[in-house]
Amino acid sequence: MVREEDGDDKKLFPPEIPNWICGEERPAISGELFEKFNPANGRAICRVARSRAADTERAVRLARESQPAWAELSPVRRGEILHDVAVGLKARREEVAQIVALETGKSYQSALAETDGAVALGLFMAGEGQRLYGRTATSGVPNRYAMTIRQPIGVAGLIIPANTPIANVAWKVFPALICGNSAVLKAAEDTPATAWVFGAIAHRAGLPAGVLNVVQGYGDEAGAPLVANHDVGVISFTGSTAVGRRIGAIAGERLAKVSLELGGKNPLVVCDDADLDNAARWVLLSAFSNAGQRCASASRIIVFAAVYDEFRDMIVERTKRLRAGPKNDDDLGPVINEEQLRAMLSCVERARQRGAVVLIGGHRLIDPEHRDGFYMAPTLIENADPNDELSKTELFGPIACLYRVKDFSAALAVANDSPYGLTACIHTRSLNRAIQFTQKVQAGVAVVNAGTYGSEPHMPFGGVKQSGNGWREPGTEALDVYSELKDVYISIDPDAL
Ligand code: NAD
Repeated sequence: MVREEDGDDKKLFPPEIPNWICGEERPAISGELFEKFNPANGRAICRVARSRAADTERAVRLARESQPAWAELSPVRRGEILHDVAVGLKARREEVAQIVALETGKSYQSALAETDGAVALGLFMAGEGQRLYGRTATSGVPNRYAMTIRQPIGVAGLIIPANTPIANVAWKVFPALICGNSAVLKAAEDTPATAWVFGAIAHRAGLPAGVLNVVQGYGDEAGAPLVANHDVGVISFTGSTAVGRRIGAIAGERLAKVSLELGGKNPLVVCDDADLDNAARWVLLSAFSNAGQRCASASRIIVFAAVYDEFRDMIVERTKRLRAGPKNDDDLGPVINEEQLRAMLSCVERARQRGAVVLIGGHRLIDPEHRDGFYMAPTLIENADPNDELSKTELFGPIACLYRVKDFSAALAVANDSPYGLTACIHTRSLNRAIQFTQKVQAGVAVVNAGTYGSEPHMPFGGVKQSGNGWREPGTEALDVYSELKDVYISIDPDAL
């Protein structure tokens, strides 16, 4: 596998990552750049176009000019072109996975699995070109047909985070384009090369110039102008609740459609009748894989008192054996940047001062192998007050808190006592408890006897409460985000009216 240490990363992407504007690679208009670091070792790996409002506005203007011709193609033809993009991504899956691994510090194997997920999403969405269904309805008037058709919105503004970068790109670009929109994608500042290589693949596959534009840069400099631009008809944002709230307010002011896919503080309940071995396996995966940087990771482990001590000791013991690093046989990588690491460390420290007990972890890894990277030790905490900042705030890292409850209704109450409502999981052998939980937990996704993460490309994903604003992406439901419905009435015998 090509790694940075081999000095071969120069072949994976240019040393200065440009924007993709109307089919051309363009530096920021100002010529400014910022540095991107490898989270696994803290070394600079490239410099990135630091785009600002002028770059974003240019991208939107060219996207707007390109959109009518794209929308004129039949949805089936658009699907064929997007199929070619997905096949192009598949053909370069190993190269893309190397880029994802280098930019995020995750292992090549998990980057490859993520890339394959992006391909699957692309193929599914390309097929939607043959199924861009409206609805044929009955009419109350004789000799009249009533139906709905889907229409493109115009320019889609797409804003993504860095945690699963190639999946995040695919999750937004394919559904936006199949519906006949053009798009401006604001890449995550921590994963610029992944967005760049997707732009290159789309271009090579024959996507018409200007249909997909990729703008690099920081959120407030390159992303905010996209949200404010009156020519952007739909904004789809995945990221933190704090930023999503600001985006919702600005888009709301100009009545733009906005889909917000936000944070989570996801509960995983372990009942007294659970298969504890299976539950422990899924707790570790849900809390620590991808270094806990999943909107769907489990950060609140709610355990019945009858099995609490046994289960706690079991997961602490297993956590001790986890290996941190970027290799395929490591269990978790670094977090994405130094700032993120510091924010988590200080939150854990504040909670400790208020009486929370750190069972394991709670610190940065500073041994010679890890000290230059952004590594947080996998961390388990108990005794945190359910109303503590630690219990209520998403940390987006490998940190989980344990809560002791007496029974099912107490577990459900703690699970639901959160500002968030993204995913939730229960481990039980009782069908009754499983069904009760899936019905009553306040979440967009409910899982039985597995992990809190693992959504599939054809399924609608999203959260309730502060985890989103009600839209679901991807799945067929994503078509509702990226298209407008129009009612059409046809009188087939006007003389009869
Ligand atoms: P973030 O909100 O800081 O940034 C996300 C993106 O928004 C980045 O591209 C950033 O540049 C941009 N941005 C920041 N400020 C902006 C502004 N004012 N205007 C426009 N764009 C702006 O989030 P993050 O820390 O990079 O990512 C982690 C968050 O993403 C977590 O909260 C996680 O739960 C969430 N997430 C949610 C889902 C989901 O599907 N619900 C999936 C993955 C991640």
